[in-house]
Amino acid sequence: MRFAAFAALGVLAACQTIPAFAEPPADREAQVLATARALADAGKTDEVGLQFVEDLTTEIGPRLAGSPDEQRARDWAVARLKAMGFANVHVEDFTVPYWKRTHETARVVGASAQPLIITALGGSAPTPEGGLEAGIVRFDVMADLIAADDADVAGKIVFIDEMMTRTQTGDGYGLAVAKRAACPKIAAAKGAVACLIRSVGTDHFRRPHTGGIDRRGPDGIAKPIGPIPAAALSAPDADQLTRLLARGPVSVNLDIGVETADAAPSGNVIAEVEGGARKDEIVLIGCHLDSWDLGTGAIDDGAGCGIIVGAAKLIDELPGKPERTIRVVLYGSEEIGLFGGDAYARQHSEDLGSHVLAAESDHGASYVWQFQTKFGDGALDYAKKMQDVLARYGVAAGDNLSGGGPDVGVLARSGVPVVTPAQNGWDYFDYHHTPDDTFDKIVPDEFRQNVSVYAAFAYIAADSGWDFRKAADPAE
Ligand SMILES: [Zn+2]
Repeated sequence: MRFAAFAALGVLAACQTIPAFAEPPADREAQVLATARALADAGKTDEVGLQFVEDLTTEIGPRLAGSPDEQRARDWAVARLKAMGFANVHVEDFTVPYWKRTHETARVVGASAQPLIITALGGSAPTPEGGLEAGIVRFDVMADLIAADDADVAGKIVFIDEMMTRTQTGDGYGLAVAKRAACPKIAAAKGAVACLIRSVGTDHFRRPHTGGIDRRGPDGIAKPIGPIPAAALSAPDADQLTRLLARGPVSVNLDIGVETADAAPSGNVIAEVEGGARKDEIVLIGCHLDSWDLGTGAIDDGAGCGIIVGAAKLIDELPGKPERTIRVVLYGSEEIGLFGGDAYARQHSEDLGSHVLAAESDHGASYVWQFQTKFGDGALDYAKKMQDVLARYGVAAGDNLSGGGPDVGVLARSGVPVVTPAQNGWDYFDYHHTPDDTFDKIVPDEFRQNVSVYAAFAYIAADSGWDFRKAADPAE
């Protein structure tokens, strides 16, 4: 099927031996854009990317950073990417602080004794054996905890009830997630014994959302655990606790067990569609291979990996290679603190100048609705040409303020041009970091539209010769 689809575009794509022009001639540019459209059309019937996510989430399952499961996922991905015919498939190793939950329970004690449904946050300290018991002090939002007197917090379990707003962009997350990262440090500094937060999520089911806390020590280096135990309540349990507090003081027993290691193996899995005349120039498309432990990491971020692998495979099947190399990076250990992105930037610090464009898919599997860029002021015309191609697939033009994705943000800050194919995030945070992050949440046709978008812009970047760093012409 795929080969039949490509017979028609072979003529368009065969033209790969043209020398590197700063500005390709108009007919060459028209060929590149036509091939990009043909690739995007082929993405509409993608099975390769979707199969990648299904197999990863079924055969490996959860892939906690630094765990033997993440190691199995790396081995699996290397074997799969080699079997798919990609070039230069390898792992770039690094180590991470390791944290794993062993048990987690919470219960209200006293006259209204009852269980509360919680999940420990990644990097939570353990409680003493049998749990710790303390009174609850509640705050509407994290800013109220920051403003609180130490005397009102010392010896207590802090409870931050801050909710998250549902938006298409996912912007509610940036606001709401601050309490998850920061509660343990701020509360511990005021003498609290533990942190409970309302789950960072938009659903109202009785299952909490995990996620990492800031576990950097005073030296700025991440440790396996933060200062005090920390857990998320499901939204209904946060409501229940608030109702109980309205009736009088509440004490809770919190019991969390963890396993840790100072340094565990992780790594970035890399595969390439090797370029032609400009093969040392890199178009990087990324995702993260690790996941939280509760679900099977389908929308976060198996889908992202399937999208970029599916798109790269479409380009790999063209009769001729694009001039530049397309590098697929499956980052390790994103969830616990962007370790994969940082390791990549460190290990490639000498050749970041040859990275012409980078993007990461890490916001689920729903359709791309907007295409943002961060290009030099002289390259905005290239953004427009990409956006014109993508408009055929329902993607609106975005601004030039992209920060890249989580793991490629570090590249953007080093001056590498980036794009953000912004996905619809309306229901992403209903499932994010919960046991319900599973393969069935992926809507195949929405997923495939992502494959179309990534194939189109990555191919244009790789075969157009365009310089996305280009500064504005001072004469203009
Ligand atoms: Zn993610």
